[in-house]
Amino acid sequence: VIEIKDITRDFPLGQEVVKVLKGIDLEIERGEYVAFMGPSGSGKSTLMNLLGCLDTPTSGTYILNGKDVSKMTDDELAEIRNKEIGFVFQTFNLLPRTTALDNVALPMVYAGYSKTERNDRAKEVLTNVGLGDRMDHKPNQLSGGQRQRVAVGRALVNKPSIILADEPTGNLDSKTSVEIMHLFDEIHAAGNTVILVTHEEDIAEHAHRIIRLRDGVVEKDERREMVGG
Ligand code: ATP
Ligand code: MG
Repeated sequence: VIEIKDITRDFPLGQEVVKVLKGIDLEIERGEYVAFMGPSGSGKSTLMNLLGCLDTPTSGTYILNGKDVSKMTDDELAEIRNKEIGFVFQTFNLLPRTTALDNVALPMVYAGYSKTERNDRAKEVLTNVGLGDRMDHKPNQLSGGQRQRVAVGRALVNKPSIILADEPTGNLDSKTSVEIMHLFDEIHAAGNTVILVTHEEDIAEHAHRIIRLRDGVVEKDERREMVGG
């Protein structure tokens, strides 16, 4: 699904240029379950934003599902994002005045589906993430874990080819984190490609491959033997 060749990302800072990603090569295949780890400031979010087509590299190529997205225009990227990527954020990023159902259905509005199609699909997805009884609740009427389930539902609603999550459990207590990780395990087991960032080893151990970044390069890339399947 993902093929990255010698990607760099620089940011201007006053007169200086900060080199954040310094040449990353990476291949991720369909159906993989990957966790990125690494110290704060090592470039994990910068890389996730590139993978999620929220940003483009300074140099290098990014091939997503056979298409070179590294030089696309903003409009082209927006379309790819909406169709092929589901992004989950640490801080949920839900619309506050909007029900769980409408938050989940939102990407389908951009994709041009009818209201009936949107409602049917959003109900199905909310049920799958365990919120069948919370469809009409607004974010402030939901717990942190439930909000993150809504955000996961929104990420899944257009059946993207990749689910990306940047510290999805970073704002959750440990019990709720485990529940959310079980949800990602299920999403992976259903055949999806799941890529997440975490600071915690026991969260990363849900993944089958752990990639450690340091100072903008890949320090270690290890596949884990899964016990019992
Ligand atoms: P954390 O674990 O704290 O989330 P991270 O690995 O996700 O860290 P990034 O957010 O990718 O780190 O940031 C890496 C470096 O890039 C940091 O030093 C940060 O200051 C810098 N950086 C990120 N975005 C920008 C930007 N838009 N402009 C300037 N510098 C940036
Ligand atoms: Mg980060």
